Amino acid sequence: MPQRIQVDVSEIEGILNAILDSKIPPVARCRLLSSGFSPAHTLYLSEDIAGTKACLGCGNCIDICPVLGREPARREKTEQRTSMALETIVADDCDRCYACVLVCPQVDTTIKYYIVNRRVVEVMSRLEARIGDDQEPDLDLFLEEALDQG
Ligand code: SF4
Ligand code: SF4
Repeated sequence: MPQRIQVDVSEIEGILNAILDSKIPPVARCRLLSSGFSPAHTLYLSEDIAGTKACLGCGNCIDICPVLGREPARREKTEQRTSMALETIVADDCDRCYACVLVCPQVDTTIKYYIVNRRVVEVMSRLEARIGDDQEPDLDLFLEEALDQG
């Protein structure tokens, strides 16, 4: 739940691209580059948490990650549903799909728009190159279903 005034991506573009180019889950570092929790929340809290960039433990990034979708046994390593858990159980096997960043409530919309506008085309190309790979049964199934419906 980012603040109204969010990070200007032009000021962090270099470090953001370095994060997006690495093979480890990017969500925690994108969260830390963001503006933090909005004071406009509707939670009943006595403590002022406005501006915190902490992981909320919502588990959205865990649920959306395709690596964990393909290999659910990895999720059995921990009950935690945080970005730290994601980094531990995915490690350097990250697909660089950026889905975890797009679903994180603590990442600024400015960063999400940058990814959608500048990076999604390259993600689609990487996925397309993997269709037909024996190690990618989910992608093949998806393609077959799409063709059947067409
Ligand atoms: S959701 Fe995508 S970018 Fe995030 S950790 Fe999983 S594979 Fe990597
Ligand atoms: S999606 Fe939720 S669990 Fe993952 S990093 Fe963001 S706040 Fe934390």
